[in-house]
Amino acid sequence: MCLDCDNQRLNRRNLMKLAGIGLVASTVALPAVASDKKAAPAAAAEGHAAEAPVAHASTAEAPATEAHAADPHAAEAPALSPKQALAKLKEGNRRFVEDANACAADLAQRREELAGGQHPWAIVLTCSDSRVTPELIFGGVTLGELFVIRNAGNVLDTGALGTIEYGAEHLHAPLIVVMGHKKCGAVSAACDVVKKGVELEGSIGKMVQPILPVALAALFKSEDFVGQTVRNNAVSGARRIAEESHIVSHLVEEGHVKIVAAVYDIATGEVEFIDKIS
Ligand SMILES: [Zn+2]
Repeated sequence: MCLDCDNQRLNRRNLMKLAGIGLVASTVALPAVASDKKAAPAAAAEGHAAEAPVAHASTAEAPATEAHAADPHAAEAPALSPKQALAKLKEGNRRFVEDANACAADLAQRREELAGGQHPWAIVLTCSDSRVTPELIFGGVTLGELFVIRNAGNVLDTGALGTIEYGAEHLHAPLIVVMGHKKCGAVSAACDVVKKGVELEGSIGKMVQPILPVALAALFKSEDFVGQTVRNNAVSGARRIAEESHIVSHLVEEGHVKIVAAVYDIATGEVEFIDKIS
């Protein structure tokens, strides 16, 4: 789906595919959230044997917010603090970079363990690009660990923000990551609109609109226009979450949730985390 940086001409066929994936991703996200809400709370505490998250005193004992307490379907408090969740993602990515084939997940056992409820420990908004699969690049993370939202260009639209709010508020995931990636086709398309005045067909133009101000701000600021826009787009998305969601900003202020940006290198497999988003 993504185009190489040196592809100077916009490939409309690829972009149509890109839009198709983006639309499918956005339409399936919300029904999934709705059904999640019906899931019975609290899987067995012993849950995932060797990979079970370590309980953290401060977060485990943290009182639930009023909204949490009022929701009978709410999951238990998170087993990981925001800091621990970030360290776990970094460690998983290190494992993936060093030996990608070692990242195997015991799916059958996890499926059974999770039938009664989910306790994801990180929310990831990233691109639909087929090379950017969070569960794999974070070290073979298995079922029930990451709450993932994907669309072309990791755009923070209403569906994405609502899904993030659900993951943070109702599932108590302590970490939110907005992750762009190098050579992103959607970001490249937005850069072509800004730099070359390219007009995009169908819904694609509308889809990349939120990226246009970011691309415009990066124009002539860097030799790597697309790369800089990818980075700024991830940071901008991460910053906007707290700005546009009082639910999430409240959780951040209380110390229950941390938001970071990230950029994935599709060639090396490395994820660069960007803590400073404001
Ligand atoms: Zn992309």
